[in-house]
Amino acid sequence: MNRLLIWQLLFTCVIAAGCNSQQGQVTPSAQSNPTGPQGQVRQYVTTQTGVWLVHDTNRPAPPVVWPGSVDGQPPSDAVVLFDGNDLDQWVSMRGGPARWLVRDGFMEVVKGAGDIRTRQEFGSCQLHIEFATPQQVTGSGQGRGNSGVFLQGQYEVQILDSYDNFTYPDGQCGALYGRAVPLVNACRPPGQWQSYDIIYHRPIFGQDGAVVRKATFTVLHNGVLIHDHVELEGGTGWVGPHAVTPYRPHPDVGPIILQDHGNPVRFRNIWIRPLKD
Ligand code: MG
Repeated sequence: MNRLLIWQLLFTCVIAAGCNSQQGQVTPSAQSNPTGPQGQVRQYVTTQTGVWLVHDTNRPAPPVVWPGSVDGQPPSDAVVLFDGNDLDQWVSMRGGPARWLVRDGFMEVVKGAGDIRTRQEFGSCQLHIEFATPQQVTGSGQGRGNSGVFLQGQYEVQILDSYDNFTYPDGQCGALYGRAVPLVNACRPPGQWQSYDIIYHRPIFGQDGAVVRKATFTVLHNGVLIHDHVELEGGTGWVGPHAVTPYRPHPDVGPIILQDHGNPVRFRNIWIRPLKD
């Protein structure tokens, strides 16, 4: 095979890789590192959008998202679940009106009104939520500023006033309730606004109902990492003092639930971005 023919074949491979990429297919053919006309190495990467040369300007660029003027504002591609004005995106657990208080840009748990859930349902997601435990401190342990945010209506990231308030560590603020202790206690004092940024990937269940991929959580509390891609070992439902629920199969999507644990915890600025599993 003469040299001209070899270069023609290499050129064809590069064009083919680009064409296949445009079709969104993964092509296993271009993983080799042929050298170019001046002898330089050409490296390829296989991605979900195709096979690309390193620094290939034809590689699809990510979509543009406006992140808001201030960190924590909903990005342009987020679903806003609460903007401080009304509970239109929320209902009671039975589907009736959500009977929590809304005023001055926040919602507040009304004791006895029950948990509330989103009308829309979500699976894997990025969730931003801001909360404040009561400024007037009453109770202790689990009785102080208790609420919670549940992903897919199942898995609770605990909300609690854990500022100088001891409780069992797998139930303190930021815990994946009964399952995972936060890396650090990053709580602000009662009454101050705090935030969670949660990256959640849902569990996947097999046809027999057994979990084949566990859920994972990455959580920032007030910007501080408290769960670093933690695999959730099972359900977070309270069974007794020393037991929580196992994994039980459920649909691929479910609501975000906020907990009425009898304490007037406040919430504001809640938004979500669905993620690929
Ligand atoms: Mg709770």
